Amino acid sequence: MNVKKIISSFLAIIMICSVFAVSASAASYSTVRKGSKGSDVKTLQTMLNSIDNAGLAVDGIFGSGTQAAVKKFQKANGLSVDGIVGAKTWAALTDKYSSGSGLKIAAGNYNPVSIMQGKSYSVNGKITSTKKITSVTVGVYKTDGTATSVVKTVYPNVTSYDITRVDTSLKFGTLAAGTYYFVVKATDTSCTKTLVNNKFTVVGDAVKAFKAKALGNWAPPVKKTGFYKVTSGGRYFGASRDGGKRAHAGMDIHYKNGSGKGVAVYAMESGKVVEYIANFYGGMQAIAVQHADGSVARYCEISTKLRKGSKVTKGQQIATIAKSNIGGSTMLHLEIYLGTASGSFTNKSNTTYDYVPKKVYSRRRDIIDPKFVLDLI
Ligand SMILES: [Zn+2]
Repeated sequence: MNVKKIISSFLAIIMICSVFAVSASAASYSTVRKGSKGSDVKTLQTMLNSIDNAGLAVDGIFGSGTQAAVKKFQKANGLSVDGIVGAKTWAALTDKYSSGSGLKIAAGNYNPVSIMQGKSYSVNGKITSTKKITSVTVGVYKTDGTATSVVKTVYPNVTSYDITRVDTSLKFGTLAAGTYYFVVKATDTSCTKTLVNNKFTVVGDAVKAFKAKALGNWAPPVKKTGFYKVTSGGRYFGASRDGGKRAHAGMDIHYKNGSGKGVAVYAMESGKVVEYIANFYGGMQAIAVQHADGSVARYCEISTKLRKGSKVTKGQQIATIAKSNIGGSTMLHLEIYLGTASGSFTNKSNTTYDYVPKKVYSRRRDIIDPKFVLDLI
């Protein structure tokens, strides 16, 4: 490639081409400023990302990053630099955003804001141009601009291309926790344009990390073997209760024919008793032990001498499995909380759960599936 060609292709890459049209007029947007939330803020962020490559998360929250991008736009366009998007700034934004007729991308699924580590994200959105689109690059870049392995480039040579077609190539689930940019770049026979450049985060799998740590450190809650399998069926976490009206919030370490009564229960980890319930169910007791990392093990349907405020040491016997005064089996009903919420563990009005499928557990939002504990026994 000769020098002239290098320069011209470089110019093509940095060239800010015409941006895509929006149907709404400036008059249809409300005045937004720092602290504003909602769809108009999302529109604003989309426009700033497209016009100025602002790299904002399209989350509909007008924070300091959005404010800085607004001020930069206002300064560059001779508007009063107040960071408030009123009629004049909207008009200028809409004008810039809709000028020209080149490459554009229609509304679609390309605004990830927060993805849980290991989870996938599906992309779609139709790129069009009046000229033939020669290449499209869709993918995830680090904050320093380097590409991750989640990037795909195709050479469609058509005037309309839907990024759904590269979706299966983009393995979002392989990204490590961190901050990234989701980028869509397209080149047609006249120029290259960054159509999408949105900041997003991959949130680490807190539960996975917690379980790995617990499995390396905790002691088993019972030593007596011979309990029923609790990995499935009615004794398992999430199983139906009250004819489907609620879900089982714990896992039952459940012995045959009442033989669980008196089986010793041990503290899986050192900590402090933060809750004592004299009658958890059928006259049986329960205690919740909070550990140094904030996580909580709630040992239920037991008989214990411990009370709120008692300190326990890992491996210490803290209780025995009790027998209900209303019949039924003998078991240790075990609940685990990650410690990322506060308040009562039993919470009948809570409908939000951070780490388990949405069901009526009537528990605090940071409850997790305690199945991993079986691997300690
Ligand atoms: Zn239970």
